[in-house]
Amino acid sequence: MDSSHMGADLERVLVSETEIETRLGELAEEIAKEYEGKDLLLVGVLKGAVMVMADLMRALPMTAPVDWMAVSSYGSGTKSSGVVRILKDLDADISGKHVLIVEDIVDSGLTLSWIKANLESRNPASVEICTLLRKPDAAKVEVDVKWVGFDIPNEFVVGYGLDYAEQYRGLRQVGTLAPHVYS
Ligand code: 5GP
Ligand code: MG
Ligand code: MG
Repeated sequence: MDSSHMGADLERVLVSETEIETRLGELAEEIAKEYEGKDLLLVGVLKGAVMVMADLMRALPMTAPVDWMAVSSYGSGTKSSGVVRILKDLDADISGKHVLIVEDIVDSGLTLSWIKANLESRNPASVEICTLLRKPDAAKVEVDVKWVGFDIPNEFVVGYGLDYAEQYRGLRQVGTLAPHVYS
C-alpha cells in the first residue's frame, strides 16, 4: 500500500521517499558516533515528528529509549508566536541524560528554541536537535540545530508527518499542496 492516492493533491515534491531514507541513514550514523557509550534519550515532538522518529530510530545502529512531548504554539493560523503551552510532558525525568530532540521541521525556530530551553532547565547532560527539514529563510531566532536533513524553501509543506488541517501526515514524501486543496 502506498500513499499515491494523496500524492495527487501535491503540487510539487520537494523531498522524495528515497531521499529521506538515504539522508536519515547518514544522520543515524553520525548520531550513533556522537552518542556512543552515552546515555541517549530520543525526544520526539508530537505529532509531526512521528515519521522521522520511526525511521531514524530504526536506522540508528544503537538502542535508545524514546519519549514524547506535545506542545501547542499560540498564534494565528499557520504562524508560530513563540508562546508555547505543554499539552503532554515527558513521561520521565531527564536529569543526567543526553537528550536528542527529534523534529519534523524548523520554521521560525520559535517553538524549538522554547522546547530546547525548557528541557535544558531540567538538568540533562546535554540537549541537541535533529530535524528532518529546516527553512533557513523563515528563521526568526537562532536555534543551534546539530543535525539537519534538508534545507527547503520558505513554503508551506505537507507529508511525512507534516499536516494541513491534520491531513496528509501519511504521505511518504514532502511537498507543497496544489491550490485546489486550499479552495
Ligand atoms: P516554528 O515556526 O516554531 O519553527 O514551527 C513550529 C511548528 O509549525 C513546526 O513544528 C510544525 O509543526 C509547524 N510548521 C512549520 N512550518 C510548517 C510547514 O511548512 N508545514 C507544516 N505542515 N507545518 C509547519
Ligand atoms: Mg514539529
Ligand atoms: Mg501542524
